[in-house]
Amino acid sequence: MDLGIHGKRALVCASSRGLGLGCAEALAEAGVDLVMNARGADALDTAAGDIRARFGVDVVTVACDVTTDSGQAKLMDAADGVDILINNAGGPPPGMWTDWAREDFVQALDANMLTPIALMQGLMPSMIEKGWGRVVNITSQSVKAPIPVLGLSNAARAGLTGFVAGTARQVAQHGVTVNNILPGIHDTDRAVSLDTGVSKAQNIDLAQARANREATIPARRYGTRQEFGATCAFLCSQFAGFIVGQNVLLDGGAHNATL
Ligand code: NAD
Repeated sequence: MDLGIHGKRALVCASSRGLGLGCAEALAEAGVDLVMNARGADALDTAAGDIRARFGVDVVTVACDVTTDSGQAKLMDAADGVDILINNAGGPPPGMWTDWAREDFVQALDANMLTPIALMQGLMPSMIEKGWGRVVNITSQSVKAPIPVLGLSNAARAGLTGFVAGTARQVAQHGVTVNNILPGIHDTDRAVSLDTGVSKAQNIDLAQARANREATIPARRYGTRQEFGATCAFLCSQFAGFIVGQNVLLDGGAHNATL
């Protein structure tokens, strides 16, 4: 399917692995030139080289921490005038509600709420000027239903979701759409790290921790980065211009709700 975005340019944050990489690959397959980012240059350059070879698009890499002011400045410089912004960063660590001090909250809010907001504020004005733009924020199923051990994530992502709900409705008249994708469990390094935590806490092996989690999902499996990326690319397509301020849950049916 031709998504109608061949020749557009996208910034995909945190995209050397996992869900961000899935989005970068799917956009590249649709003919979108990329600015890719991750903290470590080696994995980022490898991922970028692979995408150039497979899809023939232009890829610029910016190795930096997207959650810092200096990282955001570098990214906004490299991505000046992009048509598409995919916001992503690593998720906060698990813990108990008693574990976290103010600094932990500030760090989580910086990474998973204020960073995507800063990049939207920096990059949406030129989309508005051109009369076309797409923003997709990678958030979490924890926005729909809390994951008790991920209190920092629950808090920060709820804040971003509130901001997007209002802002998406302010920019839609200019042809710019802002939506969130809420991943349930996907087969990435983040899932391995979460399952490792469960296996240690419950004194079971990693395969058992994964099997236990899979049993709670109607699809009986984890999602893939390719499925995630395809959804992201569709939200960035010409066909998705009437999808505004939505929270698209990709969780294999795990969230048990009629609506
Ligand atoms: P991952 O650990 O597999 O990959 C994270 C990617 O982000 C890597 O490329 C890493 O280099 C990059 N990165 C991390 N922190 C960064 C930073 N500060 N600056 C620049 N790059 C950075 O993670 P993932 O599974 O792809 O998850 C992506 C996001 O989705 C995370 O916020 C995670 O909490 C959330 N999420 C994931 C799942 C899941 O099952 N995988 C479920 C719900 C939410």
